[in-house]
Amino acid sequence: MVSGTRYFQNVWDTLKTTLVGMSITGKYLMRKPITVQYPDERMPIPDRYRGIHYLEQEKCINCLACARACPIDCIEMDAVRHGKELEWVSFTLDYQKCMFCELCVYPCPKDCIHMGTEFALVVEDRSELNHDLLSFKGMAVDARIRMREAEKKKAEKEAAKKAKAEAEAAAKAAEGEADDAAGGDA
Ligand code: SF4
Ligand code: SF4
Repeated sequence: MVSGTRYFQNVWDTLKTTLVGMSITGKYLMRKPITVQYPDERMPIPDRYRGIHYLEQEKCINCLACARACPIDCIEMDAVRHGKELEWVSFTLDYQKCMFCELCVYPCPKDCIHMGTEFALVVEDRSELNHDLLSFKGMAVDARIRMREAEKKKAEKEAAKKAKAEAEAAAKAAEGEADDAAGGDA
C-alpha cells in the first residue's frame, strides 16, 4: 500500500518529467526543419572534398604522369597524336579500385585533372564504375580545324617549292639552249 506522501510525490515526478520532456520538444517545434531531401537537395560540400575526378580534356597532353603516380593503376588512357594535336579514344578511371588519395592530381604538369565534389557512385553493375572522363572523343572541333589548316599550309608550301624547282629547272634548260645556239652561230 502506497502512503499518501509517496502517492503525491509520484504524481509530481510524473508531471515534472512530462513538462521537462515537452519543453525540449517545444524548443524544436519553432525551429526550421533541417532534413535534407537527398538527392533532390544536397548539403554544401567543402571545396577540398575528394570526390569523383574531372578532367580538363583540352589541356591534357597524354603524358601519363597521373597514371604512373596512381599506386593502384586505376587510370588508363588512349589517344592518337597528329602532330601537335591529340585524337582521344579513352581516358578511364576505375572506381572499383580508386581510393580517392589524390596522388594522381599533383604530378599533372598541366593542372588538368582534379578531384571534384561529386560522390554518388550508384550503379547496377560494377563494370559501370570504370568511368571515362573524356567529355569528347576523337578530336576537338577546333583541333580538327587547326590540323586541316596546318595540312593545307604544308601542301601549299610543298606545291610552291615544287613550282620553284620546276621554274629553276626550266630556266636552266633555257639557258643551256641559248648557250648552244650562241655556240652554233660562232
Ligand atoms: S585518387 Fe589515388 S587511387 Fe584514385 S586514381 Fe588518383 S592516384 Fe589512383
Ligand atoms: S598528368 Fe595531366 S596532362 Fe598528363 S595525362 Fe594525366 S591529366 Fe593529362
